[in-house]
Amino acid sequence: MNFAMPCLTDTSINLQASYQVAINENPANQRSTAAARKKRAAGNHAHFWAPGRTLRIAFVSGDQAFKDAVIAAASAWQPHINLLLEFVEGSAGEIRISSTPGVYWSAIGTNALLIEEGPTMHLSPDLHAPAIFAASVLHEFGHALGAEHEHLHPESNIPWNKAAVYAAHGVAADADEDDYARRAVDERYFNLLDASQFDYSPYDPQSIMHYPVRQDWTLGDFRIDLNRVLSEKDKASMAKAYPHPVAQSA
Ligand SMILES: [Zn+2]
Repeated sequence: MNFAMPCLTDTSINLQASYQVAINENPANQRSTAAARKKRAAGNHAHFWAPGRTLRIAFVSGDQAFKDAVIAAASAWQPHINLLLEFVEGSAGEIRISSTPGVYWSAIGTNALLIEEGPTMHLSPDLHAPAIFAASVLHEFGHALGAEHEHLHPESNIPWNKAAVYAAHGVAADADEDDYARRAVDERYFNLLDASQFDYSPYDPQSIMHYPVRQDWTLGDFRIDLNRVLSEKDKASMAKAYPHPVAQSA
């Protein structure tokens, strides 16, 4: 089994509320690029936490083996960010993790603040496949830190065989653009994000935030296997989002 369950995306966010919590948390979430200025502010903002803060991460369910595996995997982000990932006892935290069989999902960055109760992240306890589980944890924590899906990068240019992807997701062959199932697939795979949402960093097929791409879902022999570790760009992008203060020169 080479393919982890692709994580679900959340399209039910109230954009205005998302914008407000993002800017309140970290004013740098207000994009200032030329591309962003052309757009309405809401929906085009970043979702990063305030650099330097402590992010409390709680578990609302899951056994100790699950918690240990999550903490071990997620900690790979820690050296690259000026944020303290503090795993706490009890169920109160900005990030609240549920062990949910069959589901991988996380709120994106500060959107977690819009969820007043219950989990902000679901992780399927697939501990029988440790490397794939760890990759999924890294991916979901990437979302929790504010990262978007890399395969939706405006320059990704994946030669999708759309008919094959639709068929695999049970979309009727004659479904039109308004078909609910088709729109869900479009959101997850095909609708590329605006360039301003990536701060113009180049497309990175090795990103932990990239879905694996099955060869039989593409034209020709294009495929991308599951990325299992943080890429250099993953590290650099997060370091840029969560910078350390510049040291005062004497
Ligand atoms: Zn994802």
